[in-house]
Amino acid sequence: MGKTAAIAGRMLGCRSTEINLSDGQTPLMNNAQSRVRANMLDGAAIADQIKQEVRRDVEEFVREYEVKPCLAAILVGDDPASAVYVRNKIRACEEVGIRSEHHALPATTGAIELLDLIRSLNRRGDVDGILVQLPLPPEIDESAIIEAIDPEKDVDGFHPINIGRLAMGRPTFAPCTPAGIIELLVRSNIPIAAANACVVGRSQIVGRPMAQLLLQRDATVTICHSRTRDLGAVTRQADLLVVAIGRAGFIRGEHIKPGATIVDVGMNKITDAETVRQMFGDLAEKRLDIVSKRGYTLVGDVNPCEADEVAGRRTPVPGGVGLLTVAMLMRNTLNAARQRRGPG
Ligand code: NAP
Repeated sequence: MGKTAAIAGRMLGCRSTEINLSDGQTPLMNNAQSRVRANMLDGAAIADQIKQEVRRDVEEFVREYEVKPCLAAILVGDDPASAVYVRNKIRACEEVGIRSEHHALPATTGAIELLDLIRSLNRRGDVDGILVQLPLPPEIDESAIIEAIDPEKDVDGFHPINIGRLAMGRPTFAPCTPAGIIELLVRSNIPIAAANACVVGRSQIVGRPMAQLLLQRDATVTICHSRTRDLGAVTRQADLLVVAIGRAGFIRGEHIKPGATIVDVGMNKITDAETVRQMFGDLAEKRLDIVSKRGYTLVGDVNPCEADEVAGRRTPVPGGVGLLTVAMLMRNTLNAARQRRGPG
C-alpha cells in the first residue's frame, strides 16, 4: 500500500472524539457523536470551577482589606492574537472581581519606555500583579523586561527568582499553563505520583516548568525536544504525556502508550483541507466548515483522530488547556495580593 492509501485507510477507520464547534471555536463536549475510546478531559469546566473559587476568595479578600487585588497588563504593538489574549485576561479579571489596568503601548515603544512603565508599576502599592504579554517586538530583549518585573508581582512566574524557587520545589508563582495542567490532572483524579510522565517541548513557559511541577508531585519525568532520538520509543513509555511543541498533529497514534493520558498544549492555526482530514477523519467536515468561514481552525500538537484509538484520556483543542491558563493567572494575582498585603 502506498503512503497516501495507508493514510486514507487509517482515516476511514478513524472516528475522532470531536467537540461541538457550532459557534466557530467555543467547545462543548459531545461524546455521543461517535464511538470513542479516549475520554475528554474537561478543561473548560475545571477552569470555571477555579474561577468561581478565586471569585469567592477575592470577595473574602475585599472584606478583609477593603480593596480589590489589581492586575496591570501591558501589551506592546498590535498583534491580533496577543490583543485577544489580553482581552480575555481583562475579562476574566472582571468575572472574578479583580481590578485590572490595560496599558496598550504602540509597536514603536522602545525598551527604555517599557522599563520605565514596569518600574513605575513595581513602585505602586495598589498594583499586585504585572503581566507583559509576549511575544514583544523583536528589537526588545524579553529577558531584560521580565527581569525588571518585581518578583513579588510576577504573576506569570517567568522571573528567574520565581523559576529558581520552582526548581527548588517551593514555587511562589508557578507559570500559569503548567500550573493549570496540574489542576486539570488532580481534579480529574489522574494519578501523578509514580507515573511515568513525558513532557515533549522544553520552553521556558510550558515544557520546563511542567516537568518541574510533575517532578514535585513525584512523577518520574522525562523531557523530550527536537534533538531527542527515537521520540516514539520515549513517549510510548508515558502514562502521562504532555505535548507543547507548536506543530499541528505531530504526535500520532504510534507515539502513545495504550490507555495513556494526553495533555495537548499546542495551539496551531491550520488552513489546508488535507491536514484537517488527516487530523479529524470522519469528523473533518465540521472543521472544514470553520476553515471556510474563518480561514483557519485551531488544532493541537496531537492528532486527535489517532490519539482516540489509543489513549485513555486526552484534552481537546480548543477547550482544554488554554482556559486553565487564564484561570491560574487569576489565582496567581490573588495570591500576589495576599502575600503583599497580608500580615507580616
Ligand atoms: P516553543 O517555545 O516554540 O518551544 C517548542 C519546543 O518544542 C522546543 O523545546 C522544541 O525543541 C520542541 N520541538 C519542536 N519540534 C520538535 C520535535 N519534532 N520533536 C520534539 N520536540 C520538538 O513552544 P511553547 O511556547 O512551549 O509553545 C508550544 C505550543 O503550545 C504552541 O503551539 C503554543 O501556541 C502553545 N501554547 C499554548 C498555551 C495555552 O495556554 N494553551 C500556552 C503556551 C503555549 P528544542 O528546544 O530542541 O528546539
